[in-house]
Amino acid sequence: MKLNLITQKFTQLFPGDFSENTMQRQTPDVMFCSVKPAEFDTTELIDFNEKLSEDIGLGKLENNEDFLAAQHLPENVKTYATAYAGHQFGNWAGQLGDGRAIYAGEIQNGNRQTEIQWKGAGATPYSRNADGRAVLRSSIREYLMSEAMFHLGVPTTRALSLAKTGEDVIRDIQYSGNPQKEQGAVVVRTAESFLRFGHFELLSARKQDDLLKQLADYTVENFFPEVSLENNPSKYIDWFQAICDRTLKMIIDWYRVGFVHGVMNTDNMSVLGLTIDYGPYSMMDGYDLEFTPNTTDLPGRRYAFGKQGQISHWNLATFANAIFPLIDNAEVLEKILDNFGKQFWVKHDQMLADKFGFDEVLKEDEKFFTEWQQMMQDLTLDYTLFFQQIEKPISEIKTDDFKDSFYRNLNENELKKLLNFIEKYHTRKLRNKISESDSLDLMSKTNPKFILRNYLLFEAIQDAENGNYEMFFKLKKALENPYENLYPEFNKKRPSKYDNQTGSSQLSCSS
Ligand code: AMP
Ligand code: MG
Repeated sequence: MKLNLITQKFTQLFPGDFSENTMQRQTPDVMFCSVKPAEFDTTELIDFNEKLSEDIGLGKLENNEDFLAAQHLPENVKTYATAYAGHQFGNWAGQLGDGRAIYAGEIQNGNRQTEIQWKGAGATPYSRNADGRAVLRSSIREYLMSEAMFHLGVPTTRALSLAKTGEDVIRDIQYSGNPQKEQGAVVVRTAESFLRFGHFELLSARKQDDLLKQLADYTVENFFPEVSLENNPSKYIDWFQAICDRTLKMIIDWYRVGFVHGVMNTDNMSVLGLTIDYGPYSMMDGYDLEFTPNTTDLPGRRYAFGKQGQISHWNLATFANAIFPLIDNAEVLEKILDNFGKQFWVKHDQMLADKFGFDEVLKEDEKFFTEWQQMMQDLTLDYTLFFQQIEKPISEIKTDDFKDSFYRNLNENELKKLLNFIEKYHTRKLRNKISESDSLDLMSKTNPKFILRNYLLFEAIQDAENGNYEMFFKLKKALENPYENLYPEFNKKRPSKYDNQTGSSQLSCSS
């Protein structure tokens, strides 16, 4: 590993607190604090993503297991945690910050720059009365899911390694006053940048307009090649437009693969439009617009599957408020936001057309999609399996085959509904101008054959907690090839025994 190539440009450019004081506190004058990771006695590397390591310029592992557990770091790696704020569940939460993420810095490979972070390596000034640790359970979830999203083609942060710290960590999973010992772990994650909406919200709330501008310039110059820098009086407007475009692409991809993030607070929104912070997320099994895996969100279902478009719009509006001092033109921001709402449905329809194998979106398709959505909701069919059942020559689609995607027995009326829909689909498909094989090709690239369902993760985690990583590595193989059916045993609906299982269907933020 080329650890000597790691730099810390961010800390050279922005004001920081180098005292290494980890006392939890407000840090009103700075954007980051130097922090040292915790010391662990007996770390154990579970997996290392060598391909990613090579891609970002860090190279092979070569006896550098210590680095992956944040131990015995070389001189040039000067670690830090950043300050950010955010709106949580719709309310201003003030200063938050990296409570258990610690940066190593950046690495450059050609003109590609990548930031490196440990998650779970110890407390920081932003740990807010928590321990800065992460448990094996949630670390496996982040490690596997971020890579699953990457291979599905969804913009995301990535995972470089997973290690156990050898420490016990105490967590009360159900917040029921029943804390348990769990195994501690550290994930190394990477992204072009981990900057969040919340980093800008914090500077704006503090009325530090000069720093806000400096951070915006840094972000545009380093991470937004699509924004013209030369003599561009509308640079920040173009930047906001680009953030909306990237966020839209990400959200539409979430809908395409059936991903529910679970905690779309503005501190969990990447400015680069990456899926970030894998907590109480879930892939959707039975189709349900109201589905949220997050027990904390259950009462309001603010972050339910069907609301993710609306919520990203709300988050972008909140971000627009934060960067308002740079633009000072409410009208133009409102116009971009309005357009986001309209574009959402254009892109959403286009995505559905791809899933159905249509060569274009026809005017009548809006009605077709609405009827489909209503049917899926009423019948609770498995989202992923449904699209696999229709990914065949139209004459070969049989309603009987859909049985594997039912979560309950359907009555005669309901079966008729399904049959009617298939007939409509047949009629609609005849209007395609592309060949049947081109249509099937489009479907096979759009519709995953493997999704990392929560119950699969749950099983892998139970085994891993007992020292058996067979399922973990099998899932890793499956998620690297999500458009192929490598493991038919994983390409199944959720077994009923997991319907109400804590840790599978219901997840808390405890991690
Ligand atoms: P989240 O809900 O995971 O997005 O976290 C919200 C805030 O709490 C962030 O500032 C996190 O870094 C912090 N946080 C969450 N869990 C922990 C933990 N175990 N130790 C320290 N900080 C945490
Ligand atoms: Mg977070």
